[in-house]
Amino acid sequence: MARRAGRALRRTSRSTAEVSLLRFLAGKGKDMIVYDISMPIFRGMPVYKNEGKRQPDFERIRDYNEGAAETRLHIDSHTGTHLDAPSHMIPGGLAIHELPLDALVGECRILDLSYVEDRITADHLRTEDIAPGEFVLLKTRNSDVEGFDPGFVYLAPDAAEFLAGVPVRGVGIDALSVERNQPGHPTHITLFRGGVLVLEGLRLSGVAPGRYFLVAAPLKVIGMDGVPARVFLLESSLQVSYRTRQTAGY
Ligand SMILES: [Zn+2]
Repeated sequence: MARRAGRALRRTSRSTAEVSLLRFLAGKGKDMIVYDISMPIFRGMPVYKNEGKRQPDFERIRDYNEGAAETRLHIDSHTGTHLDAPSHMIPGGLAIHELPLDALVGECRILDLSYVEDRITADHLRTEDIAPGEFVLLKTRNSDVEGFDPGFVYLAPDAAEFLAGVPVRGVGIDALSVERNQPGHPTHITLFRGGVLVLEGLRLSGVAPGRYFLVAAPLKVIGMDGVPARVFLLESSLQVSYRTRQTAGY
């Protein structure tokens, strides 16, 4: 099985993201830092609007006296750190498994928006020199809050229009949603229609603003409107030249 997988990997041509990751890793071993920017998933964790129906549940369906431990996970598709799919808001929109994995692996930049009080607007982003194809992670005061804050900092519709206009390939935020349930969900819909990937529920308090190598790995569940993802950043103390992706959209 392993040999077969190996052959399959060799047959596959490497994507831009894969090549730049290999370059990043080459010879850098101990100089590399991995930042896990994912939320832990547990009963009692912060969930959107603190609604009990969104709490995860874990059901032990087999135990050691039956040969092995096995647990069934009952979790909302938008639990913790997760990737949104356009089908979350747009009937017939793309589902999680149809989104390009290579756009979730590559260079990214954490923007320092910790000074923003209420919502991130286009004016906050205009001064950041955001380039086409960038994946931007918005670090706000949300990262310092442990529980669910109903007044969390979100992305205003004009900021979504700005990002879709650049266009960036993705945006991540340290809130469980990129907007606070605005009527019609204009922020989500603008990003989805603009082909911008949306990561929510990031934890950025322990990471300084700047450039990193992003790896976001959503579970490959067919047909989902969103799915939890393990998201981490790689940083090297050595100078690394990244190749900037110019592709955006899906
Ligand atoms: Zn979501």
